[in-house]
Amino acid sequence: MARRLGIMGGTFDPIHMGHLVTAEQARVDVGLDEVVFVPAGAPWQKSGGRAVSAGEHRYLMTVLATAANPFFSVSRIEIDRGGPTYTVETLRSLRASLTDTELFFITGADAILNILTWKDAGEAVDLASFVAATRPGYDLAALEEHDLTRQVTLLDVPALAISSSDVRARFEAGRPVRYLIPREVEEFARKHGLYGTHGQGLAAADVGVS
Ligand code: NAP
Repeated sequence: MARRLGIMGGTFDPIHMGHLVTAEQARVDVGLDEVVFVPAGAPWQKSGGRAVSAGEHRYLMTVLATAANPFFSVSRIEIDRGGPTYTVETLRSLRASLTDTELFFITGADAILNILTWKDAGEAVDLASFVAATRPGYDLAALEEHDLTRQVTLLDVPALAISSSDVRARFEAGRPVRYLIPREVEEFARKHGLYGTHGQGLAAADVGVS
């Protein structure tokens, strides 16, 4: 029987408990053998907005957060590829390198709308099944409007009330992030001065990232 591999795509700036719960819920509900987290290299649609943390930092935080789960691993594929990150390119390379493996791409529902309403969407759904994680009360109208409800498996994840943007805002305001993100991720972010936590550790240059 073909191996069923979950591909958990996200910017993970930073990774939080909602992401981890989503991956574990997808593993069990969708019957996946393992889940590989794929931090986005250069999320091109964010290029006009706030600066995204260095890929190397987001990769390392994802490794720290997932290390204890034997079903989880982390891939550098998008971090190392360079250039704007397109999911379809990631799926093409995984498809080419993995034989006898069924691919399931898991991410937030809004991100899935972006992927499946842009170019090469037809190829993307041929390469992988899509699993959309939604927050409680998420409005499915946009998925219905694009007639995607049949192609996309929906996963309602209450823990996704946690969001990376809220975690960043909490760091910046000096409010607690304990229990929203793994302890190791919190310590890493403070050590490297991410999210306005200045002067509490090594600078990015000290760990070889810019
Ligand atoms: P985003 O637009 O920042 O996120 C949209 C929503 O989904 C946010 O609420 C976000 O919450 C949530 N989310 C993101 N990743 C998630 C995950 N793995 N599990 C559960 N919820 C998640 O999305 P993004 O992080 O930039 O992109 C997500 C993935 O889609 C990445 O792999 C990215 O490369 C891909 N993507 C591809 C294209 C394309 O190829 N054209 C376009 C857009 C996105 P948090 O902020 O809390 O994570």
